[in-house]
Amino acid sequence: MTKKAKKGKITINRERCKGCHICIETCPNIMIDVDETPNKKGYSPARFKENIPEGEKGCIACKQCATVCPEVAIEVYRAQ
Ligand code: SF4
Ligand code: SF4
Repeated sequence: MTKKAKKGKITINRERCKGCHICIETCPNIMIDVDETPNKKGYSPARFKENIPEGEKGCIACKQCATVCPEVAIEVYRAQ
């Protein structure tokens, strides 16, 4: 039996974010999008989606977004 993926969530430090959007392309479950409101540096930061898109799994705490972020702006939390 395969282990069920744990659910998770992330926080994104929007002021640290440089708006490269690599995390958006990396997330396998389409849980990150663009916040069109610019941060203080003028970048449009990444934003964690509040709602899980239809047919998607939601965040599984895989940490891929945090791993690729060059600004170390993402923290991943795992739901127990
Ligand atoms: S990878 Fe990091 S710096 Fe790039 S958009 Fe995502 S949170 Fe921002
Ligand atoms: S931890 Fe994984 S599933 Fe969750 S937002 Fe980051 S890349 Fe997506």
